[in-house]
Amino acid sequence: MDALPVTSGELLCLGSSLAFSALFYYLHRKKARALARIQEAPKLQVDDTLSDRLSATSGQCLHYVALEGIVLPAKAALSSQHHEELQGVIQKLVLKEHRLIWNSLARSWNESERVVSEQVYTVPFVLASPTAEAVTRVSVESPLRAVQLPLETVYEHFQHPTHGFKDLIGHYLSGEKPKGLLETEEMLRVGASLTGIGELALHPDGAIHLQPPTDGSNYFLHLGDWQTLLAEMESVSSLWKGAAVLCGLAGVAVILYALCRAYQQCRHKQEQEEQRQELETVWCSRDSPPESGEDPAENTCTICLTEPRECVLLDCGHVCCCFRCFEALPSRTCPICRRPIDRVVPLYQA
Ligand SMILES: [Zn+2]
Ligand SMILES: [Zn+2]
Repeated sequence: MDALPVTSGELLCLGSSLAFSALFYYLHRKKARALARIQEAPKLQVDDTLSDRLSATSGQCLHYVALEGIVLPAKAALSSQHHEELQGVIQKLVLKEHRLIWNSLARSWNESERVVSEQVYTVPFVLASPTAEAVTRVSVESPLRAVQLPLETVYEHFQHPTHGFKDLIGHYLSGEKPKGLLETEEMLRVGASLTGIGELALHPDGAIHLQPPTDGSNYFLHLGDWQTLLAEMESVSSLWKGAAVLCGLAGVAVILYALCRAYQQCRHKQEQEEQRQELETVWCSRDSPPESGEDPAENTCTICLTEPRECVLLDCGHVCCCFRCFEALPSRTCPICRRPIDRVVPLYQA
């Protein structure tokens, strides 16, 4: 049976490119669905008509809306650890250790980072209207369940370590060098303009709540308006799409390469078979060794020492064997010089 026309390496490339293509396409479709959902959602601003609008809906609830407003704390706000005048409603403090690790394969130092500590603090907050007259407040529920926290960096400090001579030797022996500690503070500041995308519900006590959608759709809290969120999501979606197309094309290229090689192998086999048939015809047409004046020992096959030499082996050009011995060669290499035999032509002696 013929071997498979693709090698295991090609199969691996083909499998992984198709798998990656499918994964990237799935991510693109997921993003595209979330995008379409946001585009369909009603776009609202926090104002005093919200209560009436919600009362008019069934269940006093809008299942997916984009709501813009200004962030205000419902209770005492959080103060920044590094800038006392800064107040916020979500605070995230992260301490990361940056290290260099010796890679003995690549023979270079690679950078790696590790989160040493991470703390997130929140206080209840509401979205208010940018105009001072409106009194409606929308309470934002479960902000930590949003796809991404709407934070801006308010403090960043990189602390370099001081190394003694002993430490330096220790680093080279252990293959690990501390590079420094990065301390960051991020906040959702009071007064920031925020777009919340989720479920808007009017509770029996008259309070309006923006909460994670009960149908499992994404809950977004985004600094800025909904158009910038859409633009960001669109660029990510097209990035996944591009990656899916590239991986798909790589898979097609592997298939074409394997097919091309299989076709060439097939052509080569066909040519060899034609040569063999040609030689056989020549051999059959000779019923006795040629009677010439030259020394028969010089003209006999070097393998069987009886039949006359009948084949020119190319590319080396040796004329050393009869057709039967050529056919019986264990491998297609010249028995004299061991070079591969690419072509054989019959030798005609006149
Ligand atoms: Zn022979
Ligand atoms: Zn040779």
